[in-house]
Amino acid sequence: MTVVSPRRTAKPKLPKCPDCAGKGEITETVRVGARKGRATGDKQAALCLTCWGTGDAPTD
Ligand SMILES: [Zn+2]
Repeated sequence: MTVVSPRRTAKPKLPKCPDCAGKGEITETVRVGARKGRATGDKQAALCLTCWGTGDAPTD
């Protein structure tokens, strides 16, 4: 029976960031106006502030 051991460099399995689903970035609606009250039809990619782009759920 052969067991394939994981590489040492392999990252430990971490839960995905709930905000970006592990992608590291989010898509937000572009808002315009002084109070940012009017949403446009445009979307823009933004760095996920929960995981800072790593895609991993913060541990603490
Ligand atoms: Zn995230």
